[in-house]
Amino acid sequence: MDELVQRIKENLQYIYGRMERSLQASGRPPDAARLVVVTKSQPLDVVEAAILAGARHLGENYPEEALGKIRALEQYAEVSWHMIGHVQSRKARIVAENFSVLHSLDSLHLAEKLERCLAETDKSLPVLLECNVSGEESKFGFAAWDETKWEELTEIVSGILSHQHLEIRGLMTMPPLFEDPEKARPYFIKLRRLQEFLAKKFAEICWDELSMGTSIDFEIAIAEGATLVRVGQAILGPRPVHKL
Ligand SMILES: *Cc1c(COP(=O)(O)O)cnc(C)c1O
Repeated sequence: MDELVQRIKENLQYIYGRMERSLQASGRPPDAARLVVVTKSQPLDVVEAAILAGARHLGENYPEEALGKIRALEQYAEVSWHMIGHVQSRKARIVAENFSVLHSLDSLHLAEKLERCLAETDKSLPVLLECNVSGEESKFGFAAWDETKWEELTEIVSGILSHQHLEIRGLMTMPPLFEDPEKARPYFIKLRRLQEFLAKKFAEICWDELSMGTSIDFEIAIAEGATLVRVGQAILGPRPVHKL
C-alpha cells in the first residue's frame, strides 16, 4: 500500500507541475485550475491510496459503483466526490444525496428528478451543464455544436433555473478522442465561447467553471480556460478492464 501511495503521490506532483506551467504560460493565476482525480473503475484500494496521496477531488462515472466507494471511504471527510458521467434519471437520488458537484447535467428530465430529491432535505447541488460541442452522436450533453443551437440552450437554462436547489456553476465537455491532443483545442475554445454567450444572456448566474481536459489534453484545456481538469490514467495508471 505504501508503495502505491508513494507512486500516486509522485504522479500527482508531476501533474500539478504540468498544470502550474500551463497556467503560467497562459498568464493565469496558479490556483485558477483544480484537479479532479478520476477514480472510475478503479478498485477501492487504489482510490484509498489516491486519498492518502493527497487527492481531494475525486471523479466517478457510475452512481452505483461510486456509492460503494463513498460509503467505504466515509472516514475521509476531506474528500469531495464529483459525478462526471451520464446519470440515468432513476439514479438521480444517489447523486443528489452523495455528491458535491455534478459535472454532467445533460437533460431537463434529470434536472427535475434531482430537484425533487434535493428539495426533500433542502440541500443544494452545484451543477455544470454538459455540452456536446462536437456533434458526435455517441456523446451525451446538450446540443451545442453550432451557434444556432445556442439559442435553444437558453430555454433549457431557463428551465433549470426554475429549480431552486440546482446551482449552475458553468459548463463541461468531453471532446472527441484524438491521438493528437492539439486537435481537441477547437472544442475547448468553443465551450469557452459558449460560456461567454450564456454569461451575457444570464448575467445573474456565475458561469465561472469550465470542466474540460483529461490525461491527454489537460494542458491545452488549461491554456483555453479550464478551471477543472479531470485526470485519471495519468495519475492512477490504466483502468482495470473489468468493472467492480
Ligand atoms: C474517464 C473520464 C475522464 C478521465 O480520463 P483519463 O483518460 O483517465 O484521464 C475524464 N472525464 C470523463 C467524463 C471521463 O469519463
